[in-house]
Amino acid sequence: MNVHEYQAKALLAEFGVPVPAGVLATTPAEAGAGARKLGTPVVVVKAQIHAGGRGKAGGVKLAKSPEEAEQAASDILGMTLHTPQTGPEGKLVRKVYVEAGSAIADELYLAILFDRAVERFALVASTEGGMEIEEVASTNPEKIHTVHVEPNVGLKDYQSRALGYELGLAPEQVTKFVAFVAGLFELFLAKDCSQVEINPLVVTESGELIALDGKINFDDSALYRHPEIAGLRDPEEEDARERAANEIDLAYVGLDGNIGCMVNGAGLAMATLDMIHYCGGSPANFLDAGGGADKQKVKEAFKLILRDENVQAILVNIFGGIVRCDLIAEGVTAAAQDLELSVPLVVRLQGTMAEEGRAILANSGLDITPAETLQEAGELAVAAAKGGKG
Ligand code: GDP
Ligand code: MN
Repeated sequence: MNVHEYQAKALLAEFGVPVPAGVLATTPAEAGAGARKLGTPVVVVKAQIHAGGRGKAGGVKLAKSPEEAEQAASDILGMTLHTPQTGPEGKLVRKVYVEAGSAIADELYLAILFDRAVERFALVASTEGGMEIEEVASTNPEKIHTVHVEPNVGLKDYQSRALGYELGLAPEQVTKFVAFVAGLFELFLAKDCSQVEINPLVVTESGELIALDGKINFDDSALYRHPEIAGLRDPEEEDARERAANEIDLAYVGLDGNIGCMVNGAGLAMATLDMIHYCGGSPANFLDAGGGADKQKVKEAFKLILRDENVQAILVNIFGGIVRCDLIAEGVTAAAQDLELSVPLVVRLQGTMAEEGRAILANSGLDITPAETLQEAGELAVAAAKGGKG
């Protein structure tokens, strides 16, 4: 789960990581009042959306008076920002965060994440903070410094101190950097984050270290033990299809292809996506209907798949282990009838009660294309989506 920058900064502050003072605003007047309250000569008005790259897209503006802040907020609020992280449809700005301006001497980059390859946390830092970090990683990888932290040992100050010196910080700043990283790491563990990213971490002209931006991702599977974090969810920022799936307890990820997929089991769902690509097609979604899929769930899953206007064909791929293929077949036929399904449907059933399931499909009078193997299912679905014979 993602949160907004202003929410991330409140958490950073809670863990002793320095952030600028700020005020959230949903109207230009509130932004002007916020700037007045902050009372600094310069404030920064920042679009609050769940995506980075706002600065370059016009979503971050400096203002030298409350009037300018009000104007900046009126420019930014209601804007649809298009950044490399928003997707082609962009994101509508509903809130801005008005922050005390900082006199920036240097912009650094700092992140904490998991490095699964070595089963450790990774602190990733660079002197090239700011708005171009992805480019730095590909053109100047030597400017990215990584320190691994063994989970059973935890972060030791000497590690962040060494990292601070590698970033070329002066001794007084290194001391501050060690405290900064310690707070960030504590937050990462305490709140079950999957990633925190501070870009930029600035060194101000007076030598302070401040988190000027903050992005935090939380591990969804651990949210149950952090109700205060779960409460920060902003449904308006989430993909409408994924939100609907969440509500009915289906694991769904929207993709940009045209073959809707309904599969049981995450591994089989991944294999199905691979097979569609292998056959020259493109999946519209990942959907794991789960081990306990019943008739009602199958129907809900179909509805969800069909909400996506790009869907030209549907591929159902079920391996009956606990789930019974005959029940799935009943669900599929009921859904196809109720929803007056108009796109071609390819169904592969294997495992428990598969033969009974296939008979139900064959006798349903519906135009359903059966498939035996995964590859055949992929080929048929790709052909159907291309308008060939399904
Ligand atoms: P992002 O583009 O979505 O990552 O948004 P950021 O919060 O990182 O802001 C983008 C850029 O705006 C930063 O890299 C800074 O250069 C600039 N910026 C943000 N806050 C301030 C500030 O207080 N003072 C100054 N001078 N620049 C700022
Ligand atoms: Mn940033």
